[in-house]
Amino acid sequence: MNEELILIVEDNDDDVLMIKRGLKKGKLGNPVHRVTNGAEALEYLNNNDNLSKTKLILLDLNMEIMNGFEFLHRRLDLPKVKNIPVVVLTSSIRENDIQKAYDLGCNSYVEKPLDPKKFIEAILSIENFWIYFSRIPEVS
Ligand SMILES: [Mg+2]
Repeated sequence: MNEELILIVEDNDDDVLMIKRGLKKGKLGNPVHRVTNGAEALEYLNNNDNLSKTKLILLDLNMEIMNGFEFLHRRLDLPKVKNIPVVVLTSSIRENDIQKAYDLGCNSYVEKPLDPKKFIEAILSIENFWIYFSRIPEVS
């Protein structure tokens, strides 16, 4: 069984549907867990079982309670969480946002494609690269 979990941090249900649709088209069949803001993501990852199976975080920026930037910032103090690659997936293409996300250590920054086909293509590429080809340290 594939235990490599993708954590989706996204407050928009439609975008979550698109992400799940994309992942379903992929060949890897990774389980996903969805939370709606950064605080919930930190809470989820504050559990060793959850932490050890999470191999990728797809992070929205604009969210209530705790946005993506604050999540990126807080995870810098959490060595084990810091190892998990974070792909920012957002509709913002403001240069400031892109710079800030990289300053806070995101691994990739992807604009949510408006075209559904391209959205799915983006998700498949992300999954393929970050789950299939990339390696991260194991959580002990
Ligand atoms: Mg949002």
